[in-house]
Amino acid sequence: MIRTALRYHFPDDLDEATALLHTHEERAAVLGGGTMLVPSLTRGDRDLDHVIDLRRLGLGGVSSTAGGVRIGASASYAQLLAAPPFTGATRLLQLAAEGITGGPQIRCQGTICGSAAYANPSSDVPAVLVALEAVIHLRGPENSRTVPAEAFFLDAFTVDVRRGELLTGVTVPTRSARVGYYKLKLVEGSWPIATASAVLPDAGDSLVGATVTLGAVSARPLRLDLAPLLDGHGRLPTAGDIDDWVSAQLGEPWDDELAPGDYRRMVAGVVLRRALQRAQGI
Ligand SMILES: Cc1cc2nc3c(=O)[nH]c(=O)nc-3n(C[C@H](O)[C@H](O)[C@H](O)COP(=O)(O)OP(=O)(O)OC[C@H]3O[C@@H](n4cnc5c(N)ncnc54)[C@H](O)[C@@H]3O)c2cc1C
Repeated sequence: MIRTALRYHFPDDLDEATALLHTHEERAAVLGGGTMLVPSLTRGDRDLDHVIDLRRLGLGGVSSTAGGVRIGASASYAQLLAAPPFTGATRLLQLAAEGITGGPQIRCQGTICGSAAYANPSSDVPAVLVALEAVIHLRGPENSRTVPAEAFFLDAFTVDVRRGELLTGVTVPTRSARVGYYKLKLVEGSWPIATASAVLPDAGDSLVGATVTLGAVSARPLRLDLAPLLDGHGRLPTAGDIDDWVSAQLGEPWDDELAPGDYRRMVAGVVLRRALQRAQGI
């Protein structure tokens, strides 16, 4: 039960929604699927006066065009999975969505944009968006702007959203690539301890141009270009050398109740290698 009085707003257009957010600033929050926001209000972790529901704004839907996949702010994981199979790099979106835990309730209710806005390091969406060079669409009271995912995730639970702004959607560009996703978690229903999103050139044995983006191992997603690791033929060194290199790239590892930072540092290389193997089909 939420124990404090809240004003619930159900705006009909974006101007009204952004004006409310601007006026009430940190006393207001957008309600996406509510899977994080509502429990935090119930626990009393967040103290708000206004909640702004986006569902009348027509921001749902997942559409796929030649240029990419557009995911509306109200689109859930289930909608992403119900869309026709994506091709090329964008397939990573559906691979990651398949592994979201919490059952049908969370997959039908939780939104991709809600996860991006929340920016919990121990989650799937932020690193996948960075791996795919996605663009975040923001709308404020005065104007709209777009921010590359790489620049959007500033720190743990901190994103580049200005006063009065909300996310209206995400666009993920299409490019031909092989992709692999690997998520390490404690048990089937847990949140991620470490994720890796591998994006490889479409064909051939050479890994020149390959990237792997690690999630949940640091405060913000870590996109790694594998070039410094490769030999003259574009091949990887031994597993031990890969793990040492990944560990050196990590900086301060993320530390929470799921796993200590030292553990995350230890497993980061393994998770990266497994995502690469999945992308290579081995
Ligand atoms: C049981 C359970 C299991 C889960 N398992 C996983 C998992 O395996 N992997 C994983 O990554 N996550 C997991 N999650 C988290 C889940 O991904 C997120 O709860 C969900 O995606 C958040 O979306 P939402 O729409 O419910 O956000 P909300 O709870 O509505 O909002 C979260 C925050 O984002 C803000 N916000 C929401 N939408 C917008 C917007 N359009 N513009 C600006 N701000 C916005 C809200 O104000 C709030 O601060 C799990 C959650 C639960 C409860």
